[in-house]
Amino acid sequence: MDMKFNTYKKASKGMKEEHLDIMDHILLPVLTGQSVIHIRTHEENRVIGICESINSRISEDFRVLHILSEAGVESDLLSSSEGEDADFTALSTQASSPNEAHTSLHVRALNSFLSTKEGGVLLILGADAACRQTELIRRLKTHANNGLFPLTDEGGEDEDNNDESPKLVVLHTISQDTPETLSRTIQNYDLPLPRDGTLSGSLRGVCREMGITDIQDDKIRKNWVLALRGLTSKEAERSLQQTFTVHDSKMNVESLAYLQTVKRNIIKQTGIMEFHEPTTSFSDIGGLTNLVEDLGLRQGEFEVHARDAGIQSPKGCLLVGLPGTGKSLIAQSVAGEWAMPMLEFNMANVLDSYVGGSEANMKKILAVAESMAPCVLMVDEIDKALSGLGSAGGDSGVTRRVIGNFLTWLNDRKADVYVIATANDLSEIASAMPEMLRKGRWDDIWWVDLPDRKTRQQILEIHLHKIPSERIEEGVWEQVTAISKLNPGITGAEIAAAVNEANRISFHQEKLLSVKQLTSSIEELKPLASGIRGLEETRKWMKDFARAASPVPAAKVVKNSDVYLAAFDASKQFRTTTPDEQD
Ligand code: ADP
Repeated sequence: MDMKFNTYKKASKGMKEEHLDIMDHILLPVLTGQSVIHIRTHEENRVIGICESINSRISEDFRVLHILSEAGVESDLLSSSEGEDADFTALSTQASSPNEAHTSLHVRALNSFLSTKEGGVLLILGADAACRQTELIRRLKTHANNGLFPLTDEGGEDEDNNDESPKLVVLHTISQDTPETLSRTIQNYDLPLPRDGTLSGSLRGVCREMGITDIQDDKIRKNWVLALRGLTSKEAERSLQQTFTVHDSKMNVESLAYLQTVKRNIIKQTGIMEFHEPTTSFSDIGGLTNLVEDLGLRQGEFEVHARDAGIQSPKGCLLVGLPGTGKSLIAQSVAGEWAMPMLEFNMANVLDSYVGGSEANMKKILAVAESMAPCVLMVDEIDKALSGLGSAGGDSGVTRRVIGNFLTWLNDRKADVYVIATANDLSEIASAMPEMLRKGRWDDIWWVDLPDRKTRQQILEIHLHKIPSERIEEGVWEQVTAISKLNPGITGAEIAAAVNEANRISFHQEKLLSVKQLTSSIEELKPLASGIRGLEETRKWMKDFARAASPVPAAKVVKNSDVYLAAFDASKQFRTTTPDEQD
């Protein structure tokens, strides 16, 4: 067989790093003779682009590209340089014999393609539904087994057989997995979201199209490209067009902020994740000094000199604690402090089959996170997804698989994505999925307890500082220590709520925020912690299992708030007191 294939070196020459990965997953298999490959992506244009480059990268023997979609076949020459090649066999989608009358458009087009002399590339675009056609899949499997140079129906005696051209089939789906029968035979690849080089190209393209002078300043260009990370090329183009239309084609701070809002909305529309650019920092967190100090050190571990010293890039941490103790605030502050974007998702939401296939959801989130790297990925309430799973498993196959995929990714990922997962309770995880707590899975597991007296004071001050100072009576600042001794057992979120409530009431009464009002708002709180049974046991358990986020022991729950918990369990009434109340 007269193979005029390029060498790997030649085929990958001049490729940017982001394209080398594509080379290795798509073009290299073709170079080594694979005749069917499956590419999964939302981006049709990029798949078409890859198919078009096969001619110049792999071999000029690929002369024609046929694109088959539900609408029929479109064919084009890949290289128009040779006059003699101006013609090619058009694929027929008509039934050629009575036998074919019952076959689908896809099968007929594939048959027609495999019988052409010039071969080339057949791209089956948007084949999600077609993947369920057993006949098509069976034919693809045969072609995969026959290789790039299948014998034509006429047999090998054909005198032109030496000139037989390669026949490559590219199967594209949006979210459909490789059909089971094919998965071990063909190459399959999830095309990652575009990286900076491609996004920069989109920016340049839209600027050209809209008559905007392209940015010369590298730093500004980088910020615009950063703002596009996590989007597909099409989404990036659309967002830029929208931004320039609204902002009179100007590239300034305001238009960049607008672009970020557009991106936030696009990501939110997926229904499974949210994107923020937090501005919070560690100074917004009261207490939790052990954790904050550790996170401060971790930041430096992303740097090259830390890697040179053999230190592994930080993975992430699991934060365990009652609701309202500031776990999400920590994740936001890490992102703010490290100047990284933050992607957030809720595990239970991902597993909700109404929103789409759980596994596809998980894949989508991880793809977006990787393309945004370096970034912070927050997984909210990771324990909720496991509730009801129990050690027996039950119908938990999907849940286990999806979380398993996530944990594997956590171990293997190369991109700088710092994961912060939050959980209210580890007992569920420990019984249903102990591998999630395995040593080395996370940099650390932290126990975030209720705030101690001093921390309550800090949180109080942080939230009072958010109110314009002229709205607060002088005396309030002198009394914060005394006020922080009230109602021990409340969480940071409850303190924040009490401060807001006090401010609101004072506003309506047309008064300044007073010690009296603040005292009463805090005293009136019914702490959530008083409704949590088994907190003391959890604390004991956590001592062995996790690091304490705060160096000072928190309020000890000895007796519950009478009113609040009466309904819960009359026999086990607690009330909260702290060992540090005296200070
Ligand atoms: P969790 O994620 O643990 O449920 P959050 O981080 O959502 O709790 O807390 C809700 C809000 O409570 C925060 O946005 C913040 O206003 C306040 N808060 C909680 N803990 C703290 C803290 N340690 N310091 C300052 N504010 C806090």
